[in-house]
Amino acid sequence: LYVDSPLADGQSVGLDHERAHFLRHVLRLDRGDPVAVFNGRDGEWRAVIDGFGKGWCSLTVTEQRRGQDTTPDLWLLFAPLKKGRIDFVAEKATEMGVSRLWPVFTRRTDPNRVNLDRLRANAVEAAEQCERLSVPEMGEPMPLERALAGWPDGRTLYLCAEAGSARPIAEVLRDARQTGVAGPAALLVGPEGGFDQSELDEIAKLPFVVPVGLGPRILRADTAVVAALACWQSLAGD
Ligand code: SAM
Repeated sequence: LYVDSPLADGQSVGLDHERAHFLRHVLRLDRGDPVAVFNGRDGEWRAVIDGFGKGWCSLTVTEQRRGQDTTPDLWLLFAPLKKGRIDFVAEKATEMGVSRLWPVFTRRTDPNRVNLDRLRANAVEAAEQCERLSVPEMGEPMPLERALAGWPDGRTLYLCAEAGSARPIAEVLRDARQTGVAGPAALLVGPEGGFDQSELDEIAKLPFVVPVGLGPRILRADTAVVAALACWQSLAGD
């Protein structure tokens, strides 16, 4: 269970209405029952339920069970998608170990808003489910151009360019690994309507960008995210 408080022996932790409801009515736990908790910094701890009140629950942390795990230093930049599909992206990217989820608006992005609380809630749920001990950081939603203008030194951006136009991602990642130039990285997946051609050309020219292909067919944006991350995981190793 993800909690937003420090974790240490004897620490007491209060849970909000939603989490209290989950423990009491969904998992049917009671006072004295153990729960595993993490906060993204201090590893996994065992805690015991002290009691429930109207809309709250309190726990006492008892002992550490696992040290903090590490996730790849991998960001995912993606154009926001419609509700169910963006939920899917948050869930799958969290399971695959992404360290930062960053919604960016491209020229053809629709919708042009993103609900960060919902994105984060999906990421928290996925982290709990896959027993990852951290929740991906949320990048501030912004136009892609602005994100690229402030790009940090040394981070490679793998641009998932539409079908047929770039070297296969597996080849690119294998080379990067063999030549020892694999470092902090990011993947960029475009919107359902694709990148505008001039936008794609401008991005591909940037020195930190490496265009990659995901096979001969045009994948839906959410499928492209999973395909790219699966390649990353098998070739970059984490
Ligand atoms: N309307 C666009 C077109 O016809 O080319 C397709 C956009 S696709 C649904 C959404 C995004 O997924 C693309 O912008 C790209 O980032 C990624 N994508 C889809 N298929 C891909 C492939 N075969 N290789 C690399 N990226 C792909």
